[in-house]
Amino acid sequence: MLGVSVDHVTPNPYRDPMLCLACGVCVSNRKTSVQDATVSFALCKKCDHSLRPAPVRRLESGLRVGASFAHEGAAKRLVHRLKYDAVAGLARELAEAMAPLVPPDALVLVPVPRAIVRRVRYGVDQSVLLAKELGRIVGLPSVRLLRSPVWRPPHAGHGRNSRRAQRFRLLSEAAAGGILLIDDVVTTGTTLESAAAAAGGGVVGSLAFTMSISVTTEAAASRAPSRSAGSGAPKPAPPV
Ligand SMILES: [Zn+2]
Repeated sequence: MLGVSVDHVTPNPYRDPMLCLACGVCVSNRKTSVQDATVSFALCKKCDHSLRPAPVRRLESGLRVGASFAHEGAAKRLVHRLKYDAVAGLARELAEAMAPLVPPDALVLVPVPRAIVRRVRYGVDQSVLLAKELGRIVGLPSVRLLRSPVWRPPHAGHGRNSRRAQRFRLLSEAAAGGILLIDDVVTTGTTLESAAAAAGGGVVGSLAFTMSISVTTEAAASRAPSRSAGSGAPKPAPPV
């Protein structure tokens, strides 16, 4: 694990050189923007250039899925550092990139919890951390409404049709509306659809940090309406 500082004290680049949060090389200054997003990652040029905005998708069920970046390059490495290296402090940085994409009809943030076996193995539930930090940034409550299955198959190497549906259970009565599901990565959307089914009819959409856009069956070339329009939302997605 790299000794990367992710606190929010303004660093002195001459006294405290920053390390790229994604790859660990030294960078001379802390970036104040990433492709117009209102984030303050410290990223090297190579990692910065690897970031690509993700499109808004609608899954077969009609669920709206948004994400800050495509699941590749530095964005993918940042997710892995959070969920596999348990660098919990990164959740704040990633949530800052997600904040401009919170839709105006969202009233409560509900994390899609990690399977219990994986939470124990890696020591972190990244979606819970992201929802908590995102809630602090946009001023919405984060509610742990869903209980995860004990185990679920990994995403890598599994096609959509071969993947078994996840089974989530409600921990309490679901809100009547305004539920925004929060996850770290969207691949095929199977997990999100399962979580949305468990959460009931109050789900207005979902938001993740990254999205795999190579497996989408339906994509819109525009972003979801922003809760903080004009605050520096990422650029419109390129055609996919
Ligand atoms: Zn880098």
